[in-house]
Amino acid sequence: MQCEIAVIGNGAVGKATALGFALAGFNVVLVAANSAKALTPEWDRRVFALNHTAKNLLCKLKVWDALDLQRVAPVEAMHVAEEDGAILKMDAYAANRQELAWIIEDQNLNQALDAALRFAPNLQIISGKTVAVTADFSELTLDNNTTLQAELVVGADGAQSWLRNQANIGLDYRSYGQRGVVANFSCSKPHHGVAHQWFAGEQGIIALLPLPDQQVSLVWSAPETLAATLMSETAEQIAARLAHFCSEQLGELISLPPHSALAFPLQFIGPHSMTGPRLALVGDAAHVVHPLAGHGMNLGFGDVVALLEAVANRETWRSCGDERVLQRYARARKEDVMLMQLATDGLSRLFSSQLNPVKTLRNAGMNLVNKLPFLKRQFILQAMGK
Ligand SMILES: Cc1cc2nc3c(=O)[nH]c(=O)nc-3n(C[C@H](O)[C@H](O)[C@H](O)COP(=O)(O)OP(=O)(O)OC[C@H]3O[C@@H](n4cnc5c(N)ncnc54)[C@H](O)[C@@H]3O)c2cc1C
Repeated sequence: MQCEIAVIGNGAVGKATALGFALAGFNVVLVAANSAKALTPEWDRRVFALNHTAKNLLCKLKVWDALDLQRVAPVEAMHVAEEDGAILKMDAYAANRQELAWIIEDQNLNQALDAALRFAPNLQIISGKTVAVTADFSELTLDNNTTLQAELVVGADGAQSWLRNQANIGLDYRSYGQRGVVANFSCSKPHHGVAHQWFAGEQGIIALLPLPDQQVSLVWSAPETLAATLMSETAEQIAARLAHFCSEQLGELISLPPHSALAFPLQFIGPHSMTGPRLALVGDAAHVVHPLAGHGMNLGFGDVVALLEAVANRETWRSCGDERVLQRYARARKEDVMLMQLATDGLSRLFSSQLNPVKTLRNAGMNLVNKLPFLKRQFILQAMGK
């Protein structure tokens, strides 16, 4: 098979990339290792806080309107508390917006992307996994023996990217020694569209994100031992632990079906390059960050925007996978990716420290930012993806 763009990996970032290129008139093949996800009545425990960059992209791809919007919750404000009592309150109104972000279930997002892909022109979806590639990345072989020739290969194959390995791209790797424990609850008090986050010292970082209908989604970045304990407990026991942090704001938490938690290992992966020969990495294949700021998927959608732009603006004589085009893509992403890596990594280290001088400093820092409208606005704009 031949195409201009081969997108490998059908996570949300890969689907958005394939859709973007197809709508721009390119001939695209999407290699999908998993089948499409259906929206179930149960609330998905995997949710993402998507920012304005992500929403703009999804609107442009006509995916936003295909979402079940009854199941999307706007985040109007964010309250961050520290174990010693410092508090930072950020709201969208300070940036003249109504929403800071939107909480969207993985299954809702994927169903909308799948619906848009079904109607996309110039796009073919092939089931399979890549198992071989030529040295110049001009030809890929799938596990069903299909061979695929493309001008540009997009590696959207996730944190353990097979394509990144084939391109011999080195990386910085660190486990955070934590797992992201996720579960959903209803709450007895209205959340008013506020996302709450507690930096809870040795207990890690707890976030309760608003869902529609007075419900919240938990993302608990818990140290390994605590994570193992949480995973052995019932959702009611987890709710009882959370009461200490949130009962004042959210009242009583009651677990939602399936009444259990899921856990994901948290790691930092910083590949030394986002490109290879005819190869552009996007999403988790290109960078994995701590979820404390809820930005991994947002960064991935930022990659999609930049890659679409670099390829669309290339000189007519250059192919889609031309080295210069890929260099422009990598340059366009460098600052955003580095800033997010530094911010999430720095914050996770800062808030896990139990050293008294560090605790005093971060407490004072948070109180100070809370009192300085200009600085606070910069944080808000950054969180919104502006
Ligand atoms: C606890 C937690 C909370 C998070 N919260 C947020 C949040 O609030 N906001 C946010 O923006 N981000 C968040 N993130 C980050 C976000 O989940 C990821 O950044 C995002 O899911 C990455 O999407 P992706 O499409 O790049 O990768 P993936 O979803 O991992 O998709 C990769 C795809 O490639 C396929 N694949 C792999 N190898 C091959 C191969 N050889 N051939 C073909 N296909 C292949 C896989 O099957 C998979 O379908 C969170 C992460 C965690 C762990």
